Amino acid sequence: MKYLAEFQNPELARGLLDDIRAAVTRPWALMEVCGGQTHTIIRQGIDQLLPDGVELIHGPGCPVCVTPLEVIDKALAIAARPGVIFCSFGDMLRVPGTDRDLFRVRSEGGDVRVVYSPLDALRIATENPDREVVFFGIGFETTAPPNAMAVHQARKRGIRNFSMLVSHVRVPPAIDAVMGSPDCRVQGFLAAGHVCSVMGTSEYPELAARHRVPIVVTGFEPLDILEGIRRVVRQLERGEHTVDNAYPRAVRPEGNPAARAMLADVFEVTDRAWRGIGTIPLSGWRLSPRYREHDAEHRFDVVDIATREPAACRSGEVLQGLLKPNQCEAFGTDCTPRSPLGATMVSSEGACAAYYLYRRLGTPTTPLEASSVV
Ligand code: SF4
Repeated sequence: MKYLAEFQNPELARGLLDDIRAAVTRPWALMEVCGGQTHTIIRQGIDQLLPDGVELIHGPGCPVCVTPLEVIDKALAIAARPGVIFCSFGDMLRVPGTDRDLFRVRSEGGDVRVVYSPLDALRIATENPDREVVFFGIGFETTAPPNAMAVHQARKRGIRNFSMLVSHVRVPPAIDAVMGSPDCRVQGFLAAGHVCSVMGTSEYPELAARHRVPIVVTGFEPLDILEGIRRVVRQLERGEHTVDNAYPRAVRPEGNPAARAMLADVFEVTDRAWRGIGTIPLSGWRLSPRYREHDAEHRFDVVDIATREPAACRSGEVLQGLLKPNQCEAFGTDCTPRSPLGATMVSSEGACAAYYLYRRLGTPTTPLEASSVV
């Protein structure tokens, strides 16, 4: 806790806010890429403490939110099959598919289990050799290495009843897509620090140069966020657009070589659909042909899935930073965490969930003294 408290220090937060105020001479729009950062920002009221003109736009970095509806429906179809044990992180159970969720499948007799690691699913497979055990492998560059490790272990140990439904996504192509949108207002990025702790920073300089946009690698505590904002704003005011690492306690330029090697062994880069956004070229991973026998899509032949998004849900606009969650007409009325229309309302990193948890009654101004940061 001591280590965390150092990054929540009110005195230091005041100093960083003063620096940001002093630096700003005109309006800027910054995107925090990661849903974990969004939750810190909304929980602490950081967006309301910033000087007028500095706007934070919430990005697409919530792994649960961007998992395509088609993959959710495939998970539901597999989980409902007799003889299958379907393992998933808890976040995914309430994510609405076209006509139900994994909780519903479980209530209807499906063996759906919450696990805390893909290795838990692997253990369940060894304990149940007469059952098919499927792990729902979703997420960004942070969750992909342990999932890759589980598949690698299954192959190495000959655990043939283990497979993975894979829907992994990569952040740099998403940044590229955000900047390429004609509606884009983003002028600077707070890059997701945990992603860079795995992948390093080598993919970012080309993006920063091509889009002429500063990218600052940022952590998740309040002071991390404020320091990231300060560095982006300073670059913008100076007309710079470089990659800067404001999270050196976790991120090295080369990332984590062992994790990267595991990713390269098990996965290959592919185009991926992002829920609410559409297909982004080369923005994801799938299992490489060497691991085909552990690919649940291949094993269960789930094809011809007809999907249907609820018309009222505007999570695609939320994920692209075009709409704030509480500007959605269904927010807090037809759509709540108990009765969600979109994944962004149920994920622990979802922007709609953050607004519902911390700002349900609208957007009150947070008095400086009342903020939990300062
Ligand atoms: S509030 Fe609900 S309906 Fe609106 S965008 Fe968010 S998840 Fe979708």
